[in-house]
Amino acid sequence: MTISLDELVAKALDRSAPTRDEALALLTEDLDVLDVVAAAGRVRRHFFGRRVKLNTIINLKSGLCPEDCNYCSQRLGSSSDILKYSWIKPDEAAEAADRAAQAGAKRICLVASGRGPGQRDIGRVAEMIEAIKTRQPDVEICACLGLLGEGQADRLRQAGVHAYSHNLNTNEARYADICSTHTFADRVDTVRQATGAGLSPCSGAIFGMGESDADIVDMAFELRQLDPDSVPINFLIPMEGTPLGTDWHLTPIRCLRILALFRFFFPDVEVRLAGGREIHLRGMQPLALQVANSIFLGDYLTSEGQSGVDDRDMIADAGFIVEGTDEQTLPAARHDLVAIRRRGVGTDQPANA
Ligand code: SF4
Repeated sequence: MTISLDELVAKALDRSAPTRDEALALLTEDLDVLDVVAAAGRVRRHFFGRRVKLNTIINLKSGLCPEDCNYCSQRLGSSSDILKYSWIKPDEAAEAADRAAQAGAKRICLVASGRGPGQRDIGRVAEMIEAIKTRQPDVEICACLGLLGEGQADRLRQAGVHAYSHNLNTNEARYADICSTHTFADRVDTVRQATGAGLSPCSGAIFGMGESDADIVDMAFELRQLDPDSVPINFLIPMEGTPLGTDWHLTPIRCLRILALFRFFFPDVEVRLAGGREIHLRGMQPLALQVANSIFLGDYLTSEGQSGVDDRDMIADAGFIVEGTDEQTLPAARHDLVAIRRRGVGTDQPANA
């Protein structure tokens, strides 16, 4: 199918999603990848200018997870030679946050392995947030602790969490192929709980796990239904010792097409270039900045990322600037002043009282 990239850009500036056929065309060689990136770049610059938001992950608790997500080196049965440790102390989290903030990170992502937090774990994370916020009051705190139980999103918000991150990872039809210990619906439920509690929803995906073009488009439509504020786009880091440890299917051009597709689906949303960018995009990373307005700085959960110096040089060389803590990430018009009620009577979420 021949599509008009100019029409696609016009729709995105109007915050409308592509049609299924338009989305599929972005992934094929019918359109030159540079034309696709240039079109997505017009949308990116309209809503985000030349700013790049930096985010840093702190892995609060590593490995030994009882869940069996096939892509994850922390999974049940993983023989990956990764760091394994229980909850770090608040001081250690605060020191890591200090370094990240000094390096330009605006958001600190507090991540812990496991199915989901227990009540004591929420208390632990609250202590860490207090320690971080005392020293770095301006950073945004995002928590990524797995599936949430009742009332936990509220407790996290009260503890100072700004955003909750929980990726859908892959489309609903394929979810059972990548995990047997929880479902796509479980993940959707947690994102909705976070949103209902007033946390900024962050939810994205991982590509390179054998998905088809149609699966990628399904994922984009399914994520759009959740109306996330940020969408991390991960490219599988094939870790030895996991079921997907030999899956090297991605090319830089495939990654750029996927990123562009998500920019058209999420024109005014933080599209974050996340795990795997170094190994799959390689020398094409600067082109990805034309599409994504946010990246991770530093290391990932269990693997090392590009050096912060190289990231900052890459941003400057490509003509972009690091977004400051005093700058708003999302366009003001993204959220109406009137918030549609999604909690209390008529929903399965707790009331605001
Ligand atoms: S992705 Fe999360 S829930 Fe799944 S195995 Fe890894 S740490 Fe556990």
